[in-house]
Amino acid sequence: MLHIKQVPDLPVMGRHRRPVWPWLLGGIALILAVIGIYTFSGDDSDKLMLIPEPIDNDSLGMQEWAEMSELTRQSLESDDTGDELIPQDDSEKDPFLIRSKIHRNQTLFVALKNHGLDPGDIQQVIASMENVVDFKKTKPGDKYEVHIDVDKRILKFIYEISPEDISISERQGNTYVAQKLDVHKRVERILVKGEVSSSLYQTFIDYGEKGELASNFMRLFKYDIDFSSDSQRGDEFSILVDKVTLNGEFYRYDRVWAATYDSFARGKRLEAYYFDSPDPDFAGYYDGEGRALKRSFLKTPLVGCRVTSPFNLKRMHPILKRVRPHYGIDYGCPTGTPVMAFADGVVTFADWKGGNGNLLVIEHAHGYVSLYAHLYGFAVGIKKGAHVKQGQVVAKLGNTGISTGPHLHFAVKHNGKYIDPASIDTAHAFTLNGSKLQAFNASRNALRAALNGQSRRHEVLVEASSPKVGEE
Ligand SMILES: [Zn+2]
Repeated sequence: MLHIKQVPDLPVMGRHRRPVWPWLLGGIALILAVIGIYTFSGDDSDKLMLIPEPIDNDSLGMQEWAEMSELTRQSLESDDTGDELIPQDDSEKDPFLIRSKIHRNQTLFVALKNHGLDPGDIQQVIASMENVVDFKKTKPGDKYEVHIDVDKRILKFIYEISPEDISISERQGNTYVAQKLDVHKRVERILVKGEVSSSLYQTFIDYGEKGELASNFMRLFKYDIDFSSDSQRGDEFSILVDKVTLNGEFYRYDRVWAATYDSFARGKRLEAYYFDSPDPDFAGYYDGEGRALKRSFLKTPLVGCRVTSPFNLKRMHPILKRVRPHYGIDYGCPTGTPVMAFADGVVTFADWKGGNGNLLVIEHAHGYVSLYAHLYGFAVGIKKGAHVKQGQVVAKLGNTGISTGPHLHFAVKHNGKYIDPASIDTAHAFTLNGSKLQAFNASRNALRAALNGQSRRHEVLVEASSPKVGEE
């Protein structure tokens, strides 16, 4: 997926063309830089390892896709850019310091042994930590730091499961003594409000917040406003958000509870209120009237494919040669194209079914069912009863059953009847009503009152230190 720009045609200077070798060197440098960035971004691939891998290698490579989609979804839902307490930049090249992380299929013992450390020391260090580190929680990507002496004996070992969970084992005489690092965690609910200056992003920075908060803010309203074009100086905004600090340092933002944006370009006020419903089907963001902000459905269950046959109740079937309603939309694309779940839901069928070939059926909330036919195959874990998330890769497009070529037949039922998927209002499919709306209105009113408070209001929600050894 490396895209390397072609070197443009060289201008002819006088009688001599410019020599080509500087371009070649530049090109090689660029390629090396790209590879460097690609390798450095290996942090992302480490996150993939959090998802348990199937024992057998899946021939379809579906697991990777499912993971990629999960990762994309997660990265859209949260910008986890918390500061790292153990920096991974090893620029100082201290010969007595090792900084690394646990790799896939690697135990802590093996990881340390690979640095050429003394196996006896390693065993003692790990044994010393058994009461402070929950080794069941350790995972690929966990960071560690080893301080060694000239004989490569371990002086100090630091293990970081997360910035909130760091443990240290230090050599004392002939033994090692471990303890959890004292991390003081504080969660505040803060209100940030004001006027947009040069840009919304810069405004948040000017208010002493991180750019991450601006991203969270913009993501809330991404279906309603294009901040790159419709945001302008003088627009007013407010946001109520939980902010987490560790040892007095910013760690991350937690939930955004409410936000408003008054756009002069659009001439309207946008509102977002988090509804903390005990029913997970309804928990999420709504506007002031109780309409869901998140699109409940994808526009299409795959990307980059064209519609080869729309929903049509009077279609002449290409193979059967008679009028047969087409209860779905056909998307033409190469075999293997990832197919995504149209919305959150539960798989009710994933198997071969006659002319449908491999068929996947997913049941969603509020009486919706989506169907995907002629599939090449299903993603790992996609079987009856599996829970899927919107946008998760669930299958590969194929040409199975009665089919004239690789395509996806995609259909949607609502309350048992086929409907044209293209007719679904993906923007506001769900609106709260009844008792849910009443509960929402009450919490919205409380959030509105909080938004109307003084700017920079700080309310401390949680203040806690990690337990010392022996206090657990
Ligand atoms: Zn079809």
